[in-house]
Amino acid sequence: MAIADVGTQIRTIGHWIGGKLVPSDSGRSGVVWNPATGEAQAKVDFASAAEVDHAVEIAQRAFVEWRASALSRRGDVMFKLRELVDTNRRRIAEMITSEHGKTVPDALGEVARGLENIEFACGIPNLLKGGFSEQASRGIDVYQIRQPLGVVAGVTPFNFPAMVPMWMFPIAIACGNTFILKPSEKDPSASLYLAELMKQAGLPDGVFNVVQGDKVAVDRLLEHPGVRAISFVGSTPVARSIYETGTRHGKRVQALGGAKNHMLILPDADIAMAADAAVSAAFGSAGERCMSISVVVAVGGVADPLIAAIRERMSRIKVGPGLEAGNEMGPLITREHRDRVASYVANAGSEGATVAVDGRQDPACQRSGFFLGTSLLDRVDPGMRCYRDEIFGPVLSVVRTDTYDRALRIINENPYGNGVAIFTRDGGAARQFQFDVDAGMVGVNVPIPVPVSYYSFGGWKASLFGDLHIYGPEGVQFYSRTKVVTSRWPDPGTSTVDLGFPQSR
Ligand code: NAD
Repeated sequence: MAIADVGTQIRTIGHWIGGKLVPSDSGRSGVVWNPATGEAQAKVDFASAAEVDHAVEIAQRAFVEWRASALSRRGDVMFKLRELVDTNRRRIAEMITSEHGKTVPDALGEVARGLENIEFACGIPNLLKGGFSEQASRGIDVYQIRQPLGVVAGVTPFNFPAMVPMWMFPIAIACGNTFILKPSEKDPSASLYLAELMKQAGLPDGVFNVVQGDKVAVDRLLEHPGVRAISFVGSTPVARSIYETGTRHGKRVQALGGAKNHMLILPDADIAMAADAAVSAAFGSAGERCMSISVVVAVGGVADPLIAAIRERMSRIKVGPGLEAGNEMGPLITREHRDRVASYVANAGSEGATVAVDGRQDPACQRSGFFLGTSLLDRVDPGMRCYRDEIFGPVLSVVRTDTYDRALRIINENPYGNGVAIFTRDGGAARQFQFDVDAGMVGVNVPIPVPVSYYSFGGWKASLFGDLHIYGPEGVQFYSRTKVVTSRWPDPGTSTVDLGFPQSR
């Protein structure tokens, strides 16, 4: 449907700049769909370069005061925000479900994991502590302090419209920066609601801003000399280009990309537990998670009983609108994406894989929303497109191998290195895998090893461009810069002229 056909009745979602909602005058907008019905539910404004410039100017002005605010005051705002997000969990979750499609319990999980990052940011006075060396030389002390960067920006994907922004802005703002968020244009409402909650929490106007939009807004953020750092989460081609463009413009960039997460199942694994985990991690959120399991690598004789157990569980998954209680899997984000995901199932047979379960047959596909049931592709080979591409939908592939070594080689040769999991009862094998595998986040009998907020999140290889992972201690490093001060208090009695290079001994 073209934007012009959407009608004038539906609401328009604008920007949040300087502590208030601001309509756009760019004349460009996109459609926000209701994935459960297939209908357009809102229009979202797309910012022009001039609108981005305005947001940056507001954020620059707010930075002057905010960076001077006491650490305890910043912590106080985070404590209040924590309470507000906690109290309004359900409202945020329903907002996510209505635009993204995931079920409400799943959206509640997203909010809970985002909230952890606000809790982490509550400890900002401790996190920003520097170092002090007394008497580095006679009468000279050296100390290191951490200061904010200035205006920093975040560009986020559709699949976690609340959690991924919360990976970024609580720490950035607690460090004393001001923030511009460019959320996904597919589900933009949660970020505006979070902005409202931050205002209620006492955050001064202009410290947190939201500009809606597409590539035009992102390109301007990347080029604007007033933006000091960009955190990006999204697909690999865009992540790579954001990293290259942002660093070329002298910015700090962390750009998290796509994934193809493997679950290695050794012959000694508990089959029922491994099947439960594979089904949960492959089909939760309809596979639209960067930490979803998309490939099971079955070693030795484990494949047949495992596939039987997975199929049995898949047959019981209830697919339907995410707002209706009892449904376990909602629709995909857009019709176009649903059709793209379905095409991998349609083509798998001609590539030589076996379509063990065909999600296109699920009764939910008869509904008007963007539904697709769960699919299982067996005997997948690493050369096949359904293996190589990030499908980002409810399609689980099974690769059969004879040995651990071959399984490891397949996983390590994959261009992505986000999450990975091993299922085994053998502690030594798990430890060896943790040592061997080229991925940033490893689960041992844990299928979705998203680190808790006091560690940092990030993949390796094509899953992350940049030097620092996101949130947690590395988030603090990313959003602050160190300054080292060498200091001597005047003692005129010991002062001389000395043109030699300063030495400490
Ligand atoms: P996407 O790359 O299409 O979009 C992400 C953001 O970039 C959006 O805000 C979008 O408006 C913007 N964007 C899109 N194209 C752009 C362009 N050409 N130039 C500048 N900006 C552009 O990703 P998506 O479809 O919203 O999200 C799904 C992807 O995100 C998947 O690949 C998934 O694996 C990945 N993801 C990764 C992580 C992670 O932590 N590594 C987490 C969540 C999602």
